[in-house]
Amino acid sequence: MVWLARLKKVLSVADGDRELMHAQLRAFSRHVPLLYFILLVNTAAVAVTHLDSAPAWLSLYIPATLGALCVLRCVRWWRRRNQTMTDAQAVRELRGVTWMVGLFGVAFSGWSLLLFPYGGAYQQAQVAFYLATTLVGCMFCLINLRKPALLLLCIVILSFPGFLVANGSPVFFAMVVDMTLVGVALAVVIQLYSRTFADAVHAQRELRASQQNTQRLSDDNYRLANLDSLTGLPNRRSFFAALSAIAEQALATGGGFNVGLIDLDGFKQVNDIYGHASGDLALQEVGARLLSIGETGLMFARLGGDEFGVLVRHKLSNEALVELGQRICDALSQPYLVAGNVAELSGTIGWAAFPEAGSTVAQVFERADAALYVGKENRRGMPVIFSTEHETRMRRLSLVTQELRHADLDAELFLEFQPIYDLLTRRPIGLEALGRWHNARLGMVRPEEFIRIAERSELILGITDVLLRQALAEVAQWPADLYLSFNLSAIDISTSARARRLIDIVAASGVSPHRVTFEITETALTRDFEQARSAMTMLKQAGCRLSLDDFGTGYSSLSYVHRLPFDAIKIDRSFVTDVDTNSASKKIIKSVIDLCRNLGLECVVEGLETPLQAQVVKALGARAVQGYLFSLPMRASAVGTFLWTALAQSHAAETHS
Ligand code: C2E
Ligand code: MG
Ligand code: MG
Repeated sequence: MVWLARLKKVLSVADGDRELMHAQLRAFSRHVPLLYFILLVNTAAVAVTHLDSAPAWLSLYIPATLGALCVLRCVRWWRRRNQTMTDAQAVRELRGVTWMVGLFGVAFSGWSLLLFPYGGAYQQAQVAFYLATTLVGCMFCLINLRKPALLLLCIVILSFPGFLVANGSPVFFAMVVDMTLVGVALAVVIQLYSRTFADAVHAQRELRASQQNTQRLSDDNYRLANLDSLTGLPNRRSFFAALSAIAEQALATGGGFNVGLIDLDGFKQVNDIYGHASGDLALQEVGARLLSIGETGLMFARLGGDEFGVLVRHKLSNEALVELGQRICDALSQPYLVAGNVAELSGTIGWAAFPEAGSTVAQVFERADAALYVGKENRRGMPVIFSTEHETRMRRLSLVTQELRHADLDAELFLEFQPIYDLLTRRPIGLEALGRWHNARLGMVRPEEFIRIAERSELILGITDVLLRQALAEVAQWPADLYLSFNLSAIDISTSARARRLIDIVAASGVSPHRVTFEITETALTRDFEQARSAMTMLKQAGCRLSLDDFGTGYSSLSYVHRLPFDAIKIDRSFVTDVDTNSASKKIIKSVIDLCRNLGLECVVEGLETPLQAQVVKALGARAVQGYLFSLPMRASAVGTFLWTALAQSHAAETHS
């Protein structure tokens, strides 16, 4: 009983390494046909040579039964060869193979021993040879299953002394010794091989694990590279990848798609007023609202900052596109609750269709951008579909950009000056420098146009430098009590280095910084408020004055006045146009004049064209004024004569009074 328990233990299938077990069974499965082939052929050969000498039950029936069993096992293997096994099935299978090897080992060895006495010397040698070669063959077929192989070896080796007893010849004694030594060598080989096999399986497992790890890392990288981490939307890169893929498909199938560009209005204000953390929350909310549009075939992406992209994978009619755009705009214009504050944002969309608007991704994108550009100018918070009118604008835009890029700025740019008057003394107190550009190909280009285009690129920096130098050269010739008012762009105050450059140009001109007023529009402040504030503080510390231009055309003006070191405010001419007829305009001008008085700021009223307007604003308390009524902008060469006449006139008036 004890030996049976031990045998069971030895033959038990360790279930520690499931993967190894499966690998062993898979490898063994490939050897099964060879195993039964060896058994069948070798057994048949021995049975045939003993047909005459041994009884039929021994030379025919037993080998036939064993052969049939082998065939049955072979058929079973054939039917199951491609099945995948569960762990439990594999354990059972391995156990079954071990027992089967044991039983077959006993059966075939026992049969050989029984047959042995019936043959002559040759036949006996054949039986011993049969057992030895069959053992070696089967052992190699079982090389992946260490325990069954060793079990078979034990059974066969233990049966060999039986031949010795039955025959008593020293030849057989030598064979037994020889066979035992070969058996030991086989056991060592099997042991070493099974270790190598296990190592290979482990190495494969480690390799797979490391491949999975690499895959996971590469998936993470892919996600990081293709998703915007703030909103979780696809980023610019994946948006363009999707555009390229769909464009290729559309070109191949003759299909189409639509591209939309969304720009948020009011986002900068949220950032400036409530801080960047609130700005981030607002962007996340924008992402969530876009996703909630949830229509099939739509892809939203964050392209950067407050710019988002939409890809409509199928072709929509213009009406459907406007309707979809309007739904997106409506979703974006609902109030945003960020960190306890209610923020107002809206989105403008520019749409362009492929292939109508452009036959490459870059073209369609550019045209959606052109539609957005037009939308931002005229139809904020609404969808705009790219049209030929935009095409004309875009052509002009690229033409002007091109010319501006290659222009000889020193030769082509010049200034006109428009005086700023004191209504009480009727004397000019300063002059505003207005940039002019004459290009050989384009002729005169309006400042609104070229300045805006130059602001889109960094070309404006060069323009500011050239114009500021020209302006300061003129100021040096004016009476010392006149100041220069010079317009700056947002980019001019977007970094400290740029502010420094302006200060250096003023210093190099020899003009006292106190005679230089820099005009900054409200919209220039919406880019990066903090940066603008620090640049303005630098200009102020250098002794220059600062003026808030076009007051009343943007939003949150009062908050800017309050938080920035301004010396003056220029009331936009839109309030002046109807000041003599519109009481609302009158009230606004009056309250701004009062506000300036209270804050100790100078107030300049721009755009006076009629004596009546001048009379009304004077009655409202205005002193500093500017407009065609007093003087059109004039060339630098005309300023000297103008000033001389103006001063003479005011002297005459003083003397007269
Ligand atoms: P702004 O700074 O508000 O300049 C005043 C604009 O109003 C000038 O137009 C001027 O000619 C015009 N103006 C003056 N009085 C009257 C009036 O009584 N009636 C009417 N209808 N218009 C009047 P301009 O020269 O065409 O300049 C337009 C804008 O372009 C300027 O508005 C300013 O924002 C920008 N700009 C002009 N020169 C420069 C420059 O050198 N640098 C920068 N960054 N911007 C400039
Ligand atoms: Mg101005
Ligand atoms: Mg102005």
